[in-house]
Amino acid sequence: MKTFDTRSESVSDVDALFRPNIRAMEGYTPGEQPQESGFVKLNTNENPYPPSPKVEQAIRRALLRGLQKYPDPLATAFRVAAGKVFGFDPDWILAGNGSDDILTICTRAFVGTGHRIRYPYPSYLLYGVLGRLQEAKIEEVMFRPDWNLPEEFAVPEEDLRLCYLPNPNSPSGTMIRPPTIEALAERLPCPLLVDEAYADFADENCLDSVRRCQRILVSRTLSKSYALAGLRFGFLIAHPDIIRQLRKVKDSYNCDALSIAAATAAIEDQAWLRENRAKILATRARLSAGLGELGFQVLDSQANFVWCTHQERKAEDLFAALKRQKILVRYMVYPRWGDGLRITVGTDAEIDTLLEALKPIV
Ligand SMILES: *Cc1c(COP(=O)(O)O)cnc(C)c1O
Repeated sequence: MKTFDTRSESVSDVDALFRPNIRAMEGYTPGEQPQESGFVKLNTNENPYPPSPKVEQAIRRALLRGLQKYPDPLATAFRVAAGKVFGFDPDWILAGNGSDDILTICTRAFVGTGHRIRYPYPSYLLYGVLGRLQEAKIEEVMFRPDWNLPEEFAVPEEDLRLCYLPNPNSPSGTMIRPPTIEALAERLPCPLLVDEAYADFADENCLDSVRRCQRILVSRTLSKSYALAGLRFGFLIAHPDIIRQLRKVKDSYNCDALSIAAATAAIEDQAWLRENRAKILATRARLSAGLGELGFQVLDSQANFVWCTHQERKAEDLFAALKRQKILVRYMVYPRWGDGLRITVGTDAEIDTLLEALKPIV
């Protein structure tokens, strides 16, 4: 018998144990989370304001109830509360361990070996990673220069099993309007998963489209607008016939007791969300205007970040210069497309610090 001993086996022998698609693929690289303190952190679209105080109370109460029992596998308390807020019965809602979990569940449920997935480019890179795990064929469809979708995105194709559409999109912050999305879903032969991670910062969303069109699935997260990125909670809104099948694919206890309690309290506090949202939208306008004055090209954003480029200065150099001053923004480079900076809308004070730091370097 061959035994694997890390002292004697070479790396390639261990690599050979893995499925070829795993060996060939790159993992998803999340934005940097510096362990040192003192950074102005504008790189991963977290909320600069704390979550509702009701979240902490709910976690304390859940802790007092104890953790020795398994949690509710369907997070029913959350689904009831979210259903009330959005006007859906709880059987239209699936809870997940962050919306990345929801994306994983959908990909595993719809996509198998040799199937095709489609998503626009540049957008969220996790979709490709999830597809490669399933040994799917990946179709990245380039956005038009005006950030609308080309005709190609709607073309039905054999073996096309899932299309993803981040809306608002990251990194651009731009948005496709719901009527366009409904027309798109009508033509596609597969589910259209609208990833609404940033919808709470936008003027429109696709929740009504879900009611009208069974093919449209909407995912949401509590990480950004509800300021709970550290908690890990997201959810899907879709027709009950779809939710019923997806439940078979998820981990039995994909959300823990503390996060279910916390997420329920967070979603119930819509007044807190509205207040936070208003502050972030006001700061977004200030950030965009400030960057414009410094000679940046800034896209109109419907999210809690802005995408910008500078005619004279390289985005990568600006990123590095800011980092030296302990200001973290996200430098994004997309092969075949280009690069730029994605800057999260922080507090007014953080944005002032950023703009002041940029002044002498641009
Ligand atoms: C942040 C983000 C997510 C993931 O959110 P989590 O709930 O934290 O997993 C999903 N999609 C997009 C486009 C995002 O930017």
